Amino acid sequence: MGRHPVTALVSGASRGIGAACARALARAGHTVAVNYRESRPEAEALARELGGIAVRADVSDGAAVEKMLEAVGNVGILVVNAGIALQKLFTDTTYEEWRRLFAVNVDGAYHLIRGVLPGMIHEKRGRIVLMSSVWGVQGASCEAAYSATKAALIGLTKALARELGPSGITVNCVAPGVIDTAMNAAFDAQTLAGLTDATPLCRLGTPEDVAEAVAFLCSDAAGFITGQVLGVDGGFPA
Ligand code: NDP
Repeated sequence: MGRHPVTALVSGASRGIGAACARALARAGHTVAVNYRESRPEAEALARELGGIAVRADVSDGAAVEKMLEAVGNVGILVVNAGIALQKLFTDTTYEEWRRLFAVNVDGAYHLIRGVLPGMIHEKRGRIVLMSSVWGVQGASCEAAYSATKAALIGLTKALARELGPSGITVNCVAPGVIDTAMNAAFDAQTLAGLTDATPLCRLGTPEDVAEAVAFLCSDAAGFITGQVLGVDGGFPA
């Protein structure tokens, strides 16, 4: 796709990993649509910086995603990145909290992928990258609901890779370790030091570390790679 600039839609791109993905895809020559839910000023500033557009939609809302996709037009690259986390014992997790995590992290993927597929299938090409997590692979204590949503994305990746391969569409998944973003802002210094110690490469990841992997999976160089789960985790957990 690198030789053929297309429109790349990144969900949850107003900050963190999504914003870094938007920048990396813009550097690769693509027109970028920066999706956000609440952080309009940040999303609009990034879209201006990249010469792209900022588009609002809560990805858990199918009608809102449909309307957003009408504004974006044909999408050649989709990065399903928008996500929320929850640190709680499973026994303290309410059904509403469980449903909200699935609504954003998993239903969001459903709405976005369903929305872009007709165009990709018509073009007989496309790149889809889903943002899972090391916890979707390993499971995390006190993050059972989050881990379950991220494991669901891995299953979706592997199934869709098989279903969409004949249509020239690759579907891959990235599983980051601990990345230094707002999502981890609630951790105190001691916890962050512990997570760094548990990372063989001795540092937390950066949004750019993840974005480089995403951009690779969206490039021509990754044309024969599909259905994979690429860890970007510095070896975490040790
Ligand atoms: P941040 O919390 O920094 O950013 C989350 C982004 O998602 C924001 O742009 C936010 O926009 C957007 N967002 C949240 N809810 C919705 C929604 N319902 N609809 C549309 N956009 C939404 O998170 P990170 O950058 O850290 O995480 C990005 C992804 O990477 C997530 O899927 C996360 O699970 C995953 N990940 C993160 C790791 C980490 O250590 N940070 C590790 C492994 C995976 P707005 O403010 O406008 O709502």
